[in-house]
Amino acid sequence: MEVAIISGKGGTGKSSLSAAFATLEGKVVLADCDVDAANLYLLFNPLNEEEEVFVGSQKANIDYNICTNCGYCASFCRFDAITLNDGRIEISEINCDGCALCSRICPENAISMIPGDKSRLYSGSFRYGRMVYGILAPGEENSGKLVNMVRSKAKEESKNNGKCNIILDGPPGTGCPVTSTITGVDKVVIVTEPTLSGLHDLERSVELVKKFNLEKFVIINKCDLNSAVSDQIETWCVKEGINVAGQLPFDENITKAMFNGKSIIEFNPELEISKKISIIWNRIKNQEK
Ligand code: SF4
Ligand code: SF4
Repeated sequence: MEVAIISGKGGTGKSSLSAAFATLEGKVVLADCDVDAANLYLLFNPLNEEEEVFVGSQKANIDYNICTNCGYCASFCRFDAITLNDGRIEISEINCDGCALCSRICPENAISMIPGDKSRLYSGSFRYGRMVYGILAPGEENSGKLVNMVRSKAKEESKNNGKCNIILDGPPGTGCPVTSTITGVDKVVIVTEPTLSGLHDLERSVELVKKFNLEKFVIINKCDLNSAVSDQIETWCVKEGINVAGQLPFDENITKAMFNGKSIIEFNPELEISKKISIIWNRIKNQEK
């Protein structure tokens, strides 16, 4: 079983819940698909046994043996990636979009395009099985492609480890990396918060998930911050035929657990919040279509 945890925006508690679910599962492949801001590796400190280079885009590179520092290329770059500093032309790897225009207009043919090789895919063991995650270097593109790589690796890890369940901590929003995260999974869990913007984000996430005809669940996190809106969200979900896996109150122990390098279940499984999360995970796992 492959379960993707997503949210309409960042900061809803998606990663904390993914970490808690992985702990409850005991033996799992945990894949961090939020390649622009991967964070689960910081919590679980996995052994990076394998490392692969991900080429997301091309970058312009100057051959200073040929370049005359005429500055011509700088006036054409729409991304302000080329600057003339103290008479020397320089290209910012972070700002370079890889459009290759400079390489075509340089009168000396001093610029070539080379693969951006700073992004990485890591996999290895951690205390609940195997972890896979991608880190997209600043300025690199094609995060959806890196997510696909993370997912392929996660599937391979699952196959090599007794077909254990895969938990995907997805990126926030509804863009291409989210689409790559949820395509073909068995279940999608959307984490939301009780605000009107949270409801709006949830509607957008649900719209996306519906296109893939996937079994979906909603968790209303920090529900007690606005019980009226939490109820409004729950009513909306029921009307839309969406399974509400549960409501979770705000609990500062979740932050405390993170500071201690632990999931909330590891931090204290006897806490009310831990028990509620456990019930929710069982509901998600055991719900049949
Ligand atoms: S246009 Fe070519 S020669 Fe002129 S500064 Fe740019 S890279 Fe150097
Ligand atoms: S490849 Fe495009 S974005 Fe990059 S430096 Fe050249 S002109 Fe600028």
